[in-house]
Order: sequence, then C-alpha cells, then structure tokens
Amino acid sequence: MTKPRVAIFDFACCEGCQLQIVNLEEEILDLIGAVDVVEWREAMSEQSHEYDIAIIEGSITRPEDEKRLQIIRSRAKLLIALGACATIGGVNKLKNNFDLKEVRQCVYGKDADMPHLNTAMTKAVDEVVQVDAYIHGCPIDRKEFGLVIRALLLGKKPPIPDYPVCVECKAKENVCRYEYGEICLGPIIRAGCGARCPSNGFRCFGCRGYVDNPNVEAAREVMDKYGLTVEDLKQKMVLFGSKQEHTL
Ligand code: SF4
Ligand code: SF4
Ligand code: SF4
Repeated sequence: MTKPRVAIFDFACCEGCQLQIVNLEEEILDLIGAVDVVEWREAMSEQSHEYDIAIIEGSITRPEDEKRLQIIRSRAKLLIALGACATIGGVNKLKNNFDLKEVRQCVYGKDADMPHLNTAMTKAVDEVVQVDAYIHGCPIDRKEFGLVIRALLLGKKPPIPDYPVCVECKAKENVCRYEYGEICLGPIIRAGCGARCPSNGFRCFGCRGYVDNPNVEAAREVMDKYGLTVEDLKQKMVLFGSKQEHTL
C-alpha cells in the first residue's frame, strides 16, 4: 500500500512547533513508519513538489509568502496548520497593531525602504488558503500532534476539544488565577493543553485561540464576580489575539 506523502513547510515563526515533532522520540518512528516524509527543511535535505499532506508552521507576513502558500495548497490534498503562528497568526500578529512603515523602520533601520525588505499585515494560514485541520498551541502539544495525524490518516475527525481551558483547569482543582487578582483567558480559550499555564501558576494567555462558540455570558459572570470588565479581558488578548474576530 502506498503511504501518504507528507511535506512540512515553515513560514514566519520560531520553528518551536517543528522542534516538538522532532522531540517525539520513539513515537516519531511510529508516525514516520505510517507516512512517507518527502520534505522537511528542519530534519532533511530532500525536497519534493509531490505530496498528499502539507503541514504548515508559521504565519504569513509577506506577499511572496501568500503566493508560496497558495502553490503548496494547490499541490496538497490535505493541509494542516501547525501551532499558534499558523492557526491564529500567533505573536506575529502583534505587528498588526502598528503602522507597517514604523515596523519596517524599527526592524531594518536605515534600510527600511529597500524593496526586498517588504512586510505586510500578518495573517493566519486560513486567512490565505483553506485549512483542513488545526494543531493548536504555542508550542503544540506533542501528544496532540500524534493524535491529530493518526486520526487524519484513518480518515477521522481529529479529536480537538471545543470547550474552554477552564474545564480542564477545574478538573485539576487549580486555584483560579482570578483569586490572585490576575486576568486569565481560560473561560474563552480552547482546551486541549491540560490547562498547562494555570496548572503551573500562570494565567492562560490564549495560545490555542478561541473556542468556536465562546460562552460569553459565563465569561461576563466571571468578570462581574471579580469586579472586572470585558474590556479588561480584551486587553489581555493582545499577545495571541491581536485583531482576531470575537464576539465579546
Ligand atoms: S506557535 Fe509558538 S512555538 Fe510554534 S512556531 Fe509559533 S512562536 Fe514558535
Ligand atoms: S479562569 Fe483560568 S485559572 Fe480560572 S478556572 Fe479558568 S483557566 Fe483556570
Ligand atoms: S493555558 Fe492557555 S496559554 Fe497556556 S498552553 Fe493552554 S491555551 Fe496556551
């Protein structure tokens, strides 16, 4: 039986999500046994224009990136967005809060007007092409990566939770960060990380993006209980939520 051919591509990012794949250790051998990896810059030198599954890491920040992504999409049967940079634009979307000329000057100084140093508003992958599956997080969760890939190989819907981080956090009996006077995004952010941040003494910053149908009323109730407003919550969405559409 022919194995599905997989290619992994990176755009603007820190490559930390690919590193999570490399760190799968024994499990990666299982996964690699089930597919034929034909391109993966971080791990091999071969390249190919023929693949069935394209895994995209990173956000889209330049016009030429959009063209490259569209070509990848046209070649792949299935396209997966890997990590917050790809799924929601990630920290790169912070740039969208500033004037692009100012951004270029800040990064490139006196060379800011050089034509090849162009930059555009940051986009998540699905703002440019259709995405078939998402692997959330900054960085991704290795276990979840394996689960999603296996489900897709079996033709099943990947088991991505569509309930908020608070559900996992409460199951772990963590003391709520609101009790410490912090503003945590758990009520509106997609679970699946095992409430990693609140379980380690930090608030949720929102790296897995919004749940599909945020329970706005529940979020408002939490805000009311702690004497905060929805505006306070929105302020805390800046790191991963810049310019994201939401209904709050
Ligand atoms: S999602 Fe986070 S860890 Fe992954 S590539 Fe982007 S910045 Fe790096
Ligand atoms: S608001 Fe944050 S700390 Fe509180 S229960 Fe939800 S995820 Fe946990
Ligand atoms: S708790 Fe929030 S910020 Fe932390 S890993 Fe989970 S979704 Fe990301």
